Amino acid sequence: MDAGTKFKVAMVVLGIYVLAFAWLQHLAPPELRKKYLRTSVVGIGVIFGAGVLWANPEWEIALILVPAIALFSFLHYKMLNVCMACGHTIWPEGFRRQRFCSKCGAELRV
Ligand SMILES: [Zn+2]
Repeated sequence: MDAGTKFKVAMVVLGIYVLAFAWLQHLAPPELRKKYLRTSVVGIGVIFGAGVLWANPEWEIALILVPAIALFSFLHYKMLNVCMACGHTIWPEGFRRQRFCSKCGAELRV
């Protein structure tokens, strides 16, 4: 299997993972959604990084890719939130954590 095909396979796996999590989170209550939404972000980073390194197993790529994915996953993990009042998913805007729900205005718990 060549590198292009490996990358495509990895991105299909990532797409299935994201769609499955989006579907499950739509069905889950807010507290469970908050827990698994943050976990799913870490999973997205792991699947993407593993897919890229599977297609191009070179240490120079890993040297840049792994810290970048770790940083973005950590930032999303810390800033993603779910409103316990209405269940709305709060995505980060810039590098600030939102204090209030953009849909219902309720104060968000960390
Ligand atoms: Zn809300």
